[in-house]
Amino acid sequence: MLSDKINSLPISQTVGMTAKAHDLKNKGVDVITLSAGEPDFNIPDYIKDAAIDAINNNFHKYSPVDGFLELKKAISTKFKRDNNLDYNVDQIVVSTGAKQSIVNAIMSLINPGDEVIIPTPYWVSYSAMVTLAEGVSVFVNPKDSSHKITANQLESAITDRTKMLMLNSPNNPSGSVFSNDEYLEFSKVLEKYPNIIIISDEIYEHINYDFKTPSFACMPGMYDRTITVNGVSKAFAMTGWRIGYLAASKKIAKACNKMQGQITSGANCIAQQAAIKALIEPPSKIKYMVEEFKVRRDLIIKLLNQIEGFKLDDPPSGAFYIFPDISSYFGKEIKGKMIENSSDLAMLLLEVAHVATVPGDAFGSPNCLRISYAASRENIKDAVERIKSLLT
Ligand code: PMP
Ligand code: GLU
Repeated sequence: MLSDKINSLPISQTVGMTAKAHDLKNKGVDVITLSAGEPDFNIPDYIKDAAIDAINNNFHKYSPVDGFLELKKAISTKFKRDNNLDYNVDQIVVSTGAKQSIVNAIMSLINPGDEVIIPTPYWVSYSAMVTLAEGVSVFVNPKDSSHKITANQLESAITDRTKMLMLNSPNNPSGSVFSNDEYLEFSKVLEKYPNIIIISDEIYEHINYDFKTPSFACMPGMYDRTITVNGVSKAFAMTGWRIGYLAASKKIAKACNKMQGQITSGANCIAQQAAIKALIEPPSKIKYMVEEFKVRRDLIIKLLNQIEGFKLDDPPSGAFYIFPDISSYFGKEIKGKMIENSSDLAMLLLEVAHVATVPGDAFGSPNCLRISYAASRENIKDAVERIKSLLT
C-alpha cells in the first residue's frame, strides 16, 4: 500500500531516539534526554512579548508564502550585520524551520541521478532528503579525527554528475568548525566546477567558542552559487516555533518559493513576528546561552574522560554536541547484551541507564555516539554518572 519512496526512507534517528525517550518518560521512567539537538533555555522575554503582541494585534491570516516583508527585511539586515552578505528581500524565503528550507532547495535543484557530496559526519536528514529527490548521496569521510574533510578530498569526490555540495559549520553532530582558510581552499576547488551549487547550513552560527565560522557565500566567486540556510531554532531556543530561512540567487529563491507554495505555504505568522524581534536585536543579547553551553561542554568532556571507552579528541569548537568514538565497546557483552554497533550501545544506555543519545551511524560515523549537552549541568552530571556505573 505505501509508496516505494516512503518504504525506502529511514526514520530520522534524532527524532526517533527522542520519541523513544519521551515514551519511556510517559511510562514514568526517569530518562535524561541528551538526544535532541535543542537548547533547554526558555525563549528570551523580549521575543515572547513580540509573539504575544502579534496575537493581540490579530496576526492570524496566511502570511505571504515566502514570509512577511518585515521579516525578510530583518533577515537581510541580519545577513549584512553578522555575515557581511548582501541579500535583497526577493532572494530570501522564510520556511517552517531550516529543515524545510533545506528540503525546498534540494527538491528544487536535484534531478534523479544527480550526485550530492555530503561530508561525514552529517546531519541525519541531508541524505534522506537527497533520497526523496531521487538524487545520490556521495559521502566523503574525513581522514583524521578532526571530523573535517580536506579540499583534496572534496575534489576527488567530484564527478560529471555532481550537482551539489552540503556544508554545515558548526557541524551537527561533531561540533567541528571550518576556518576561513579551509573554506578558501574549498572555494578554489569549486571555482573549477562552476555547475556545483553549495548549500551552506549555518544554523549553529552563533554557537561557537573559538572563532566565528565564515559564511560560505563570502568566499571568492561563491555568492551566486551558494544557498545560505539559517534559522532561529538554535540561537534563540525557538525550536518548536519552526522558523528557518534561506537566501540565494533570485532564481533559486523563486523556485523554493514555488515549491513551498504547493507544500506548506507561509510559515506560522505569530512565530514570524517573534522572529523579527529575535533577528533585529544584536546577537550580544543571546551570548549568555553560548557562554553556558561552553561551561557545559567543558564539564561533559571532563566527566566523560573518566570513562575509558569514550574517546574524545580536541573539544569541539561549536554547536552543542560531543561525538566520542565508542567502538572499543563493540564485540563486548554488557549486562547480557552483545554490543555490535553504536545503535546497540545507544539502546543499552537508554534502556538500562535511562540516558538518551543518538548512535553515530545515523550521521554516517558508525564508531561514534552523539551526546547533546544542551541540558542542565545537573542533568549532564547525573547522565554521565549513570553511564559510568553501567559501563565501568
Ligand atoms: N540543520 C542542522 C545541522 C540541524 O541540526 C537542524 C536541526 N535543528 C536543522 C538544520 C533544522 O533546524 P530547524 O528545522 O529546527 O530550523
Ligand atoms: N536537528 C536536531 C537534532 O539533530 C533536532 C531533530 C531533527 O530535526 O533532526 O537533534
